[in-house]
Amino acid sequence: MNIVSVKKGYDLNLSGAPASNLESLSRPAQVGFHPDRIPFIKPRLRVKEGESVQAGNPLIEDKRNPQVTFPAPGSGKVSRISFGPRRVITEIVIELDPAESSATFPAFSPEKLAVVDRPELVKAILAGSVWSFFRELPFKDIPHPETIPPLIIVSLGSAAPFHPQPEVYLAGREDDFEYGVEILNKLTDRLLVTAPHGGIGNARIDRLTTHQVQGEYPAGDPATVLYHTKRSAQENRGWYINGPDLLTLAGFLRNGIYPVERVVAVGGPRSTSGRHIMTRAGVPLADLVGKMETAGLRLLAGGVFNGYSAGHDSYLGFYETALTLMPAGELKEILGFIRPGYRKPSHSRAFLSVFNKHPKVLECDMNGEDRACINCGYCPRVCPVDILPQFTFKAVAADEIEEALSLGLLDCVECGLCSFVCPAKIEIADILKKAKEVYAKEIA
Ligand code: SF4
Ligand code: SF4
Repeated sequence: MNIVSVKKGYDLNLSGAPASNLESLSRPAQVGFHPDRIPFIKPRLRVKEGESVQAGNPLIEDKRNPQVTFPAPGSGKVSRISFGPRRVITEIVIELDPAESSATFPAFSPEKLAVVDRPELVKAILAGSVWSFFRELPFKDIPHPETIPPLIIVSLGSAAPFHPQPEVYLAGREDDFEYGVEILNKLTDRLLVTAPHGGIGNARIDRLTTHQVQGEYPAGDPATVLYHTKRSAQENRGWYINGPDLLTLAGFLRNGIYPVERVVAVGGPRSTSGRHIMTRAGVPLADLVGKMETAGLRLLAGGVFNGYSAGHDSYLGFYETALTLMPAGELKEILGFIRPGYRKPSHSRAFLSVFNKHPKVLECDMNGEDRACINCGYCPRVCPVDILPQFTFKAVAADEIEEALSLGLLDCVECGLCSFVCPAKIEIADILKKAKEVYAKEIA
């Protein structure tokens, strides 16, 4: 067992963490898919409005590589296809059939998997529209099926606030997990299965873990793990797959049908009780919110530090497993004038929250306008990959891309911590992420 020690990062102690019980959500009437939330792809429709689809049928393909497709999260009629500016496909909605059906593909028993060769395995994964669960670093794009990865990292958990706990989503799924690890061993010579330090307390899962990661958020993030474990520059193009997606990939190959079940963590200060929910791919976010008062409620999909504000009428994203419910920013602290910042989650020691050991309340208020960098040095203190974010973002702003690259732009794991701690409220992480995307398109 290898220990990866990440010295820098930051853990926020927030109220509304999801409890570890797993609740089931009733079946929704419709499910949706948002192609515009998948970075880099150039989607082309494979379905039309009014057409019937089965779960697992391809809804879109990536024009850059039409073998890479994305599966329908349920069976029924395609009731709506929405477009944004420049005809970007923003949403595909499926009204679910009362009795659903799934597209069927050849199943691979464990014995068949043991003898299948790599090309046949890749072909089967592509045919089932599940190739897109693989991501390639440093840009987090979907890898080309013909490339051989220098390594694959499986991340069971990144310690991000309000994300599903591996103990919960892996419980009872040991067979699928073991099978998934077999698949990955067929695709790469170097497989890193990473878990939080101490393991997850499940002997069958822990037995297959190769690395335990200690440190604060984002220690378990695959890009962070890569930075601290890579052996050569070639490994910068390593792949990763998150634990829940590995279960979906394994479930698909074992049974020959696309598994639509998903475990989603719902947390945050406006969540009456943070919880894990057993639901399905593409579920309406309104169903996850439930019956609570939605006035002044902000939905944050994908993560506290690097997620995005999602519409109340939108659907669970393809890669998403977490939803944070937050007040929209008008929360006032009672008697706040005599205890300034007592409940405020902040990295700065300027607030009284430094003395408050209780979970803090997260909200959306920026508490002020953005300003110029004051060179306080907070951002490099939390950056897990030793970038100097304050110089890197300035190089990007000055269009000095070579300098930004030399400062480590491509090592940025997009964790969002630099933006969080910045007292000048500069969206550093966003600036670096966009610069990476522009660079990726330039060199493609
Ligand atoms: S530069 Fe910012 S977003 Fe990138 S890894 Fe460092 S702290 Fe995270
Ligand atoms: S945290 Fe913000 S103000 Fe401080 S050095 Fe970094 S960019 Fe500048």
